Amino acid sequence: MTVHSLETLTFDNSYARLPEVFYAKVSPTPFSAAPFLISANRAAMELLDLDPAEAARPEFAGVFGGSLLIPGMEPLAMLYSGHQFGVYVPQLGDGRAILLGEVTNGRGERWDLHLKGAGMTPFSRDGDGRSVLRSAIREYLCCEAMHGLGIPTTRALCLVGSDDKVYREQIETGATIVRMAPSHVRFGTFEIFYYRKQHEHLQRLADYTIEMHFPELAQAVDKYARFFAEVVQRTAKLIAHWQAVGWSHGVLNTDNMSILGLTLDYGPYGFMDDYDPGFICNHSDYNGRYAFNQQPYIGLWNLSCLAQTLLPFAPKEELKAALDGYQTSVDRHYHNHMRAKLGLVEDRAEDEALLQELKSLMVGSRVDYTIFWRELGTFSSDAEAKNERLREHFLNPERFDAWAVQYRDRLQSEQSRDDERRSRMDRVNPKYVLRNYLAQGAIEKAQQKDYSEVERLLTLLQQPYTEQPGMNSYAAAPPNWGKHLSVSCSS
Ligand code: AMP
Ligand code: MG
Repeated sequence: MTVHSLETLTFDNSYARLPEVFYAKVSPTPFSAAPFLISANRAAMELLDLDPAEAARPEFAGVFGGSLLIPGMEPLAMLYSGHQFGVYVPQLGDGRAILLGEVTNGRGERWDLHLKGAGMTPFSRDGDGRSVLRSAIREYLCCEAMHGLGIPTTRALCLVGSDDKVYREQIETGATIVRMAPSHVRFGTFEIFYYRKQHEHLQRLADYTIEMHFPELAQAVDKYARFFAEVVQRTAKLIAHWQAVGWSHGVLNTDNMSILGLTLDYGPYGFMDDYDPGFICNHSDYNGRYAFNQQPYIGLWNLSCLAQTLLPFAPKEELKAALDGYQTSVDRHYHNHMRAKLGLVEDRAEDEALLQELKSLMVGSRVDYTIFWRELGTFSSDAEAKNERLREHFLNPERFDAWAVQYRDRLQSEQSRDDERRSRMDRVNPKYVLRNYLAQGAIEKAQQKDYSEVERLLTLLQQPYTEQPGMNSYAAAPPNWGKHLSVSCSS
């Protein structure tokens, strides 16, 4: 395998070969204060066959901080539109992100290098095209935390800072992150050509997407319907996984929905601390449209928007049939995740009631979602066991005791062995998640130019299921100050 330097990366810019209406060619606007590397993610560098030593070169911060281009890059901002909070906005587009180029690695995998925070583009509207350090850190860490959890997501290559001032509610400093994905095409990329009645472009986009990312469908006569069915399935799988880990996206507009079923566009997201199905992580989401328990339904709503754009090319009944399969698919994936979280191997209808009762107990006592599931691995199925530690989570311990009897019976009915079950559960119930207060701690230090906490969290969260020595405090429930941090779209 060839290991590359920055200069020898191989680019193949397929998006730049699409008609020019698909994008605007635009170069990053350099910061006036020299960019400096805050963190480079070795795991993502490996995906590019990029020599890890390259991160130490000033050119690395230069390229990924928006000051330098390297040969082969063809920077552009992608055009799209989307439904924001249910309302169609006819034009959005990359307002503060630039697709630098597409790198193909030695395994033939293609990765978009998408530089976020590199200045204005023709789609910036009234924005400045910049990202503040705070939001760049949040995206950088959460991409890798989600990947560590096994959830499909864009990846994060590096985080670069600058002393340039960026104006939000207060004055902050700017930063860029480079995120990577096989494609940044969104539901909204389809919507813009549909609503503009540019069916030729729309078909071109669909053909391009199928050819590049769903090549197994390219020759099928009903390729558009089958492509849609695949997007439905991927979206269902993605959202079911979010529900299982207790994560909310916060701004599930159609322009933030990846055509590949990846978690995309990290903004005011949140892992819930106390279990609360109505959890709203985005403080600007006044009506709770994107509340935690709305996400599966919103996925369907967004898929319906996408289905509409394919009406010119695919039979309505086939699109509808694919949509009709969505909820069943979410339920199936969710059920499988939750069964695994309970440590159950066999799939039985009665488990739904067991789970419902547990969730009802958890909500009544505002139990910490991550801690409880992890600790459930320690459940002793010994008839004499009191399971004191688990019991203490609940305001009504007797009701937990009653549940525990049912759970024990259920475990015994499949001859579950406690030690085996625990190691199985530890592989699906994470010990560490990116709680808001942990991200906040890293942000506050970084604002004082201490980036150690960013690095520590990155390393920790890349292995969220593995007990890491000396890191117990990172698995703790938030202190009071950390429970109600305000995160909104302003980033
Ligand atoms: P988001 O809520 O981050 O998905 O962004 C919605 C739209 O606003 C997208 O078109 C973004 O590119 C654009 N946008 C967000 N922040 C900025 C900014 N600081 N400057 C320019 N455009 C932005
Ligand atoms: Mg977005």
